[in-house]
Amino acid sequence: MCKHILNAQVSIRSPCCRKWFDCAQCHGEQENHELARTMEMTFVCKKCKKAFRKNMEEFEDSDEYCPHCDNHFVLEAKTPQAALKVESEDTRVDARMIKDDRARQKEYTSIFDVGESADRLG
Ligand SMILES: [Zn+2]
Ligand SMILES: [Zn+2]
Ligand SMILES: [Zn+2]
Repeated sequence: MCKHILNAQVSIRSPCCRKWFDCAQCHGEQENHELARTMEMTFVCKKCKKAFRKNMEEFEDSDEYCPHCDNHFVLEAKTPQAALKVESEDTRVDARMIKDDRARQKEYTSIFDVGESADRLG
C-alpha cells in the first residue's frame, strides 16, 4: 500500500526496473536509482486489475479514465502531508495545554517533594 497517495487508483510500472509502484515516491524508497521518465506509461487499474498504456505526451481528458472499467484514475492526490498540516495545527494548541499541564505537574511535584521531606524530617 502506498503511504504517499492515499487514494491511488492505479499502479504504474516503472520503465527502469519494470516493477509496479503506486507513485514515484514509492519507487524512490524501494530502489536506489532514479525513476526513468517515459512518454508511454503502463498502468494497472486498482479497480478492475487490468493493465493499459497511456501516451503521456498525448494525454487528454478522456485518458483520465480506465479504458476497461471507466474508473477515474487521475484524481487530486490525497497525501498524508495534508493530514499532517492539520495535525501540526492541533499540536500547537495541544502544546500549549501540555505546557500548562507540565507547569501544573511541576507545582504538584514540588509540593509533594516538600511534603515528603517534611515527612522524613517529622
Ligand atoms: Zn526503477
Ligand atoms: Zn507512494
Ligand atoms: Zn479499470
